[in-house]
Amino acid sequence: MSASLATVSYLGATILFILCLGGLSNPETSRRGNLYGIVGMTIAVLATIFGPQVTAGGLPYIVGAMAVGAAIGLYAARIVKMTQMPELVALMHSLVGLAAMLVGYANFIDPAVSVGMSPAEKAIHEVEMYLGVLIGAVTFSGSVVAFGKLSGKISGKPVLLPGRHWLNLAGLLVVIWFGYRFVTAHTVADAMLPMIVMSLIALAFGVHMVMAIGGADMPVVVSMLNSYSGWAAAATGFMLSNDLLIVVGALVGSSGAILSYIMCAAMNRNFVSVIAGGFGTEGGAPAATGGGAQPAGEVVPISAVETAEMLRDAKNVIIVPGYGMAVAQAQHTVFEITKTLRERGVDVRFGIHPVAGRMPGHMNVLLAEAKVPYDIVFEMDELNEDFPDTDVAIVIGANDIVNPAAQEDPASPIAGMPVLEVWKAKTSIVMKRSMASGYAGVDNPLFYKDNNRMLFGDAKKMLDEVLVALKP
Ligand code: NDP
Repeated sequence: MSASLATVSYLGATILFILCLGGLSNPETSRRGNLYGIVGMTIAVLATIFGPQVTAGGLPYIVGAMAVGAAIGLYAARIVKMTQMPELVALMHSLVGLAAMLVGYANFIDPAVSVGMSPAEKAIHEVEMYLGVLIGAVTFSGSVVAFGKLSGKISGKPVLLPGRHWLNLAGLLVVIWFGYRFVTAHTVADAMLPMIVMSLIALAFGVHMVMAIGGADMPVVVSMLNSYSGWAAAATGFMLSNDLLIVVGALVGSSGAILSYIMCAAMNRNFVSVIAGGFGTEGGAPAATGGGAQPAGEVVPISAVETAEMLRDAKNVIIVPGYGMAVAQAQHTVFEITKTLRERGVDVRFGIHPVAGRMPGHMNVLLAEAKVPYDIVFEMDELNEDFPDTDVAIVIGANDIVNPAAQEDPASPIAGMPVLEVWKAKTSIVMKRSMASGYAGVDNPLFYKDNNRMLFGDAKKMLDEVLVALKP
């Protein structure tokens, strides 16, 4: 393939990636967005393999490596459960970081790379290599720890070293100093020590940064590492003078940063304090760690048959799905119930919180899989004001996202987090197995409200019973 054809292919792939991101911003266009992404990536890979930078002798190695990588990726994607997606994503980010590190070292050791460069070009290239390895190392070790925390292999409790901000600052200063020594070194051997010291500090920083972040803030960390992996890819693009990698890396880097910001807003977290660490509690910790005043009173249980009666008598219903619906895989039964109610003239809508479940868009994906029409699925802000006019709000395996303590208890760890105000409906029904707290480990006063009923049990099992009771 000629160099100009490769450039045109890269341009086409870049446009497709931008269209992909645009498509993914809306459930209705997300399939098309995915398709653009797949076609763009196929073009990018083919243009790279058959492009001018790969010699015929190198081709078998690349194809062999791709076959191994593709087989592992395919296997991982097939066996991963939807609720384990954040772990898989963290692991993938670690590979991007590792790749950036390895490309940086390969570039650094290969004397042919800098042949013919002017001193200024050489200095710029050295800065690119140094930064590429730095970002790659932080992304790599941070993502490995994030994987460990999300999969429960490492405790979700924040590990706070004494004077940790000073440690980070000292590390940064050492990295800058060795960066100077790296750029001013005359031989690869002279530059090796600064490169290795910086790599070790960057790896330690990645571990330290993520270890200091509490379990409840891990979603933000995963999306932040997503952003880092984009910048690592962009840095690799600079090292290899590959425009496509630079553009795609920048797209991933900036979209990851925007997503992290949106998630912080949805969880009422200060972005800087999440990054600085030590914010957040252990995932699924008992309510006693919650901090705020403990709710009092008794809960009123309800049966599946009574739930069905209430739903049948209602004029309008809002369904709020959460993590428990994903665990129970209850989305198909939820849709069956929705269809049955709609056939009876009940107005049924879904209310989706931005951080419901365990990954952004988790609920939208499940509802789309169950073929719930998009026009009855609403974002939190679109229907939160409608709860006072709603007969029944039914909460399926959700907890933190419907916790009134976020509004009513300033001492609560989730104080200020925007939540779906289900308690304002005439009746709210919470479906879950026990009184256990959700991801943030905070007790939920909703359960004790006079107009709330608890339908205890596995969401799928209980919904099956509700469906049977609803059918004539
Ligand atoms: P929560 O984790 O707050 O609550 C889920 C509830 O589901 C639990 O209280 C649990 O109660 C119940 N549950 C679990 N399994 C079942 C089952 N089989 N049947 C019925 N109920 C079940 O989830 P939410 O969706 O309300 O909130 C999401 C939380 O996760 C937020 O704190 C968010 O910050 C965090 N998070 C979000 C991410 C994202 O990107 N969306 C990523 C990672 C975390 P019980 O055990 O009693 O059944």
